[in-house]
Amino acid sequence: MLQSQLFTKTKKEFAKDEESINAKYLIRAGYIDKLAAGIYTFLPLGLRVLTKIENIIREEMNAAGCQEILMPALHPKENWVTTGRWDSIHEILFKLEGARGSEFTLGPTHEEIVTPLVKQSVFSYKDLPFAVYQIQSKFRNEVRAKSGLLRGREFRMKDVYSFHTDEQDLEKFYEQMSKAYERVWARLSLGAITYKTFASGGSFSKYSHEYQTVCESGEDEIYLCEKCRLAVNKEIIAEQDSCPECGSKNLVKKNGIEVGNIFPLKTKYSEPFKLTFQDEKGENRLVQMGCYGIGPSRLMGTIVEVYHDEAGIIWPESVAPFKYHLLNLSKDAKVKKQAEELYESLIKKGAEVLYDDRTEPTPGEKLKDADLLGLPVRLVLSDKTAGQVEIKPRNSSKTELKEIQSL
Ligand code: ATP
Ligand code: MG
Repeated sequence: MLQSQLFTKTKKEFAKDEESINAKYLIRAGYIDKLAAGIYTFLPLGLRVLTKIENIIREEMNAAGCQEILMPALHPKENWVTTGRWDSIHEILFKLEGARGSEFTLGPTHEEIVTPLVKQSVFSYKDLPFAVYQIQSKFRNEVRAKSGLLRGREFRMKDVYSFHTDEQDLEKFYEQMSKAYERVWARLSLGAITYKTFASGGSFSKYSHEYQTVCESGEDEIYLCEKCRLAVNKEIIAEQDSCPECGSKNLVKKNGIEVGNIFPLKTKYSEPFKLTFQDEKGENRLVQMGCYGIGPSRLMGTIVEVYHDEAGIIWPESVAPFKYHLLNLSKDAKVKKQAEELYESLIKKGAEVLYDDRTEPTPGEKLKDADLLGLPVRLVLSDKTAGQVEIKPRNSSKTELKEIQSL
C-alpha cells in the first residue's frame, strides 16, 4: 500500500482524553479513532491488525472442529427473560425499543440466542456433540471504559458454544479448546506471558479458566506458579492459596489482562430453554454445554500494552498490518525509481509492504512515523544508501546494508 494514499494521518501528540498506553499509541499512529468512551473506529491499518488477530483465532477454532456462524447483535427481550438475565444483568445491557412496544437489547453475549437456535437441530444423542462459534461485536454498558481497547462498550468477541450428551464429553472438548487457546496465544507472541488461570465456576461447576496475559497495566490480579505455568485469580485465592497442580504456596502476585476464558456451563442454559435429547435408552436428558470466549479487540490493545517503546508500537509479525515499511528518504529521481522497483518486486513476491512514498514529510518525520507505526522490518532508501537498501528490524537497533536485489 502507498502511504500517500492512506486517508489517515499520524498525530503529533497523544490524545489528552486517553489514559491507557494502547489507546494513546493506536490513536496517535492512526490505527483507531475514538467516538466516545469505549467506542472506537478501526481505521485501515487498525482493521488489518484486528482482521489478522481474528483470522488466527478463526483458523484455530476451525482446526478444533468448531463451525462458524453469525448470530444477530439485536436480541428480542423474550430470550433474555427466559434466563432471568433481562433483570439480573440489566446494568450492562443496552436496551432499546422497537416498533409496537417491542423491546430489544444489544447482545453482550449469546447463550440466550444460541441455545434456542440449536434446539431446532438436537433431538437424539446421535445429533451430539458439536460446537458453533462466531466472531462478532458485543455491547456492554461497562462503567469503567477507560482502558482503550481493553474494555470497550462495543467490542469484538469470539464466542464458541459446545453441546454434549454428558459431562465427560464436555470435559474432553474443554481440554481440546484449552489446547487450541494455547496455540492462539503462541501465534500472537503472547504465549510466554499468558497463563491458564483458575477462576470460579459459578454455582454449577467447581472451576472455570481464564487466560491472563501478565501486564503491569492489567486490571486483574493473579497469583502465578512459575513452575507449573498456572495461576489462580483473586476470587479463587481466598479458598485456594496454593498451586492447584503442585501445591506450592510460592505464588507470585501479578497484574493480568483477561484475554479469554473457557467455562463449563453444564445445564445452566439448556434447562431454561429445555434443550434436551433422547439418550440410547430413549430417556430425555438435558444437553451439557460449554462456552469459550476470546476478545480480539482486547488482544489488539494487549499486544500494544506489551510490545511498545517510547517511540511507538512494535508489532509481532503475525499481526502487523504489513511486514515491511519501505521508506524513500531521497528527493533524487534515481532513488525514487529504485524504491518503486523494490516496492513492485516485493509485492510480486507476495510480501506485505507499506511504502512511504510521501513527498512532504522530512526524512526525520518519516523515520519517526515508522517507529510510531511499528511495522516489523524497515527498509530505507536514501542518498546515503547509494543504490543499496538499509534494513532495520523495529525490535532492534542494528541496521544492515544489503543489495536491493537480495530482497
Ligand atoms: P472482564 O472480567 O474483563 O469484564 P468478562 O469476564 O466479562 O471479562 P466474558 O464475558 O467471559 O468476559 O467475555 C469473553 C472475553 O471477551 C473476555 O475474556 C475478554 O477477552 C473479552 N471481553 C469481555 N469484556 C470486554 C470488554 N468490555 N472489552 C473488550 N473485550 C472484552
Ligand atoms: Mg465483564
